[in-house]
Amino acid sequence: RISSSGFGRSFEERQWRLRVVGQLFLKKVRKSYGHFEVIKGVDLEVKDGEFVVFVGPSGCGKSTLLRMIAGLDDTTDGDIVIDGERVNDKPPVERGIAMVFQSYALYPHMSVFENIAFPLRVEKLSEEQIREKVGAVAKILQLDQRLQQRPGQLSGGQRQRVAIGRAIVREPKIFLFDEPLSNLDAALRADMRIELTKLHRDLEATMIYVTHDQIEAMTMADRIVVLNAGIIAQVGAPLELYHKPENTFVAGFIGNPKMNFVPVTCVGVDAIGVTISYEGQTALIPVEARPDLVGQKLTLGIRPEHTRLSEGDINIMVTPSVVERLGINTIAYAALQNGEPYCALLPGSAPIRVEQPMVTGIMAADCHLFDANGQALERRIDWRTLDLPASVTAAE
Ligand code: ADP
Ligand code: MG
Repeated sequence: RISSSGFGRSFEERQWRLRVVGQLFLKKVRKSYGHFEVIKGVDLEVKDGEFVVFVGPSGCGKSTLLRMIAGLDDTTDGDIVIDGERVNDKPPVERGIAMVFQSYALYPHMSVFENIAFPLRVEKLSEEQIREKVGAVAKILQLDQRLQQRPGQLSGGQRQRVAIGRAIVREPKIFLFDEPLSNLDAALRADMRIELTKLHRDLEATMIYVTHDQIEAMTMADRIVVLNAGIIAQVGAPLELYHKPENTFVAGFIGNPKMNFVPVTCVGVDAIGVTISYEGQTALIPVEARPDLVGQKLTLGIRPEHTRLSEGDINIMVTPSVVERLGINTIAYAALQNGEPYCALLPGSAPIRVEQPMVTGIMAADCHLFDANGQALERRIDWRTLDLPASVTAAE
């Protein structure tokens, strides 16, 4: 499916355009090691051309799920369907997928060219076909000046690009990435995030990307799948998860610094929302209300970026134990009465000091509210129109 037709937007010189298609269904997928269930029933559809990121803390089952899709681990129960075909019983090579790992696993004694060409040599393509395909891939990944070098002569980022190139030449239906950037330093990681986003746009390929880093998830994904102990906690677009997390797990995982959780009591519900009380103050939070909530203990979620030093609908008094000055903003770390952490993200010039009490004000419309089970009461906002200038919203 490498065709000579189109020219990519950002690579005018490109002669070849790689087109790969792939659609994936996971149906009630489970995985156990002995009596230990690691994946506890996952249902998911990944559309052709989508960039989906699996994110979650270490040990939640991200790699296991990816390896099951690849066919490197068998599936205890449920179906894995790629392009309409159940592949549970197919070996990895017949599934039309390519996987890129954290460790590049390049052959040190082979040139960049031969490393990328390796899967094509296994397939016994002609010398001419191999030269064409490797050339096209090297151009996309900006490795065309490096083809005769050995991996040892390359930087970490270039080596990772060679590993990605070896995946691309196979023209897989689906790319699987397992934390491919975690060996790189912070600056290079940021560069590679941008590279991978461009690569996805140019290849129009289906990509599933595993990471524990919520910044990678937020910046690259069309949709994020948040995993918690082998269960999907929520699936959604990055801003949907940020503005409408469905539970305290997702609320705490997406966003940096982490959301603050403040214990409050429900003192009333009406058509507009839920009235909560906190240390003698009351505020009406615009969320979907249920009558049974009255009198219950709830959790108010406040993102550090929604705190301010002026009065708000709710005012929380804390004493910072650490103040970080980052130039663009200031982060204050404190604790609530109950000892739980409380963090405020303030302007760079915020007039606060360590060990000096400060009052942070929060607007009710910025708040999240969770019931006693940690389930969110749905906020009365449309995240698609939030934070966008009116002109952008109107244009859509
Ligand atoms: P993640 O990639 O999210 O960090 P993994 O998918 O690697 O997590 O692991 C999920 C869980 O499965 C962990 O508790 C891990 O210890 C367990 N696990 C992974 N592989 C095996 C195995 N081969 N045998 C037994 N337990 C395993
Ligand atoms: Mg892993």
